[in-house]
Amino acid sequence: MKKNDLTRRRFIVSASAGTAGAMLTSYLPVFGNSGTGLTTALALKGGKPVRTREWVSWPIWNPDAEAPMLSVLRSGNWWRGSGNLCSEFEEQYAELIGAKRVVATASGTTALITALHVLGVDAGDEVIVSPYTFIATYNVVFNSKALPVFADTDQETFTINPHKIEERITDRTTAILPVHILGLPADMNRINAIAQEHQLVVIEDACQAWLAEYGDKMCGTLGDLGCFSFQESKHIASGEGGAVVGSNDEVMDRCQAYHNCGRPYGASMAGMGQNPVRGSNKRMTQMQAVILLSQMKRARADADKRLENALYLDARLKEIPGIIPYKLSDGATRSAYHLYPFRYKKEHFDGLPRERFLTALRAEGIPCSEGYGQQYFDGLIEEAISTRGYKRLFSEQRLNRYREELHDLPDNDQLTREAVWFYQNMLLSEREDMDDIIHAIQKIYENRKQLL
Ligand SMILES: *Cc1c(COP(=O)(O)O)cnc(C)c1O
Repeated sequence: MKKNDLTRRRFIVSASAGTAGAMLTSYLPVFGNSGTGLTTALALKGGKPVRTREWVSWPIWNPDAEAPMLSVLRSGNWWRGSGNLCSEFEEQYAELIGAKRVVATASGTTALITALHVLGVDAGDEVIVSPYTFIATYNVVFNSKALPVFADTDQETFTINPHKIEERITDRTTAILPVHILGLPADMNRINAIAQEHQLVVIEDACQAWLAEYGDKMCGTLGDLGCFSFQESKHIASGEGGAVVGSNDEVMDRCQAYHNCGRPYGASMAGMGQNPVRGSNKRMTQMQAVILLSQMKRARADADKRLENALYLDARLKEIPGIIPYKLSDGATRSAYHLYPFRYKKEHFDGLPRERFLTALRAEGIPCSEGYGQQYFDGLIEEAISTRGYKRLFSEQRLNRYREELHDLPDNDQLTREAVWFYQNMLLSEREDMDDIIHAIQKIYENRKQLL
């Protein structure tokens, strides 16, 4: 930490204490009282930013991966068939998240493709998905030549609203694909109950939810199969990488087989021919496994740190008018905080648009994002459903109704206009760094009129 920052921080803390007694509400402004002598000019208006220091960068390299990596490199045993590092990773990951079995894959996307294939999602099927997600969640459904049908989002939890699922089920629906988005667990008790009643399979997109908890289980172990990503931005990172997890041995044998060119695997496929089932190549390499084995060592400690800082932010941010932190869904016990989200209600900021709020926040030294937009109008969906294949698989009537349903996601639409995210690496910092975030938002709130 630079000396100037420390001095300034002490000053802010004492300024904060000085104004606290004068306030009648529970909300304590820090920058509102010009009597403190503290400049109230926003950084965007030429004032001093709350913060100029860098945040923790990501990913974080673990030096004890260097020797094993060099050894793999020199051995020439690079694919999983010529070593045991991928299986070692599968065992350790199963242990980490309390899963019976794991299949390592090349990416989160390939994990999802494997899961959908093995659970029988087929051409002409419909899959209920959350519209508030990374694009891969619906790309993989199109990859199966099925239709991703969106059920509206619960704005408080950012996850799929279970009450909006049943109205989207048709006689073509075969699966529900809930997403533990931003690390926030979806309402799995309700989702599993609906799936059971309608005889649907449940595939969890846990690609942002390593070590997130629902009840006493971890996300990814609650549905028929769970899928994880280890892409570079993710909490356990290897550049690219993924995993399918599950507890049904026959299904998991099929995942191993499918991801490895359809070669038979395990007791359930014993006695079958050389190429008994369709397959693909979605394999992880030994180099990815080496990085993952070293990254996994810090995962729990990192998760605890993020949780501690997130709970602190929850408590302080909710006191600022117009800032509404995420809520955990019923039954959820812990988020993974791939992102720290809240909703920004501009009414409380005299109508200051979210875009302007974010620009002001960045100028104060706080990185932030507006999150996902209404991606379903970007063109991808229309491109997919106007193909020859989709016109063969679905009636014109169904596709037209599908187009109309995209305009019936009011809660998701509102969330895409109000969400604000902080990045996971910011939560790996110290309490005083969280105070910078809080002070920056308070400062903008207090001085919002400068921006109107
Ligand atoms: C990252 C991610 C994926 C895809 O994972 P890749 O490893 O990038 O292929 C899928 N779904 C969600 C929600 C993700 O965040």
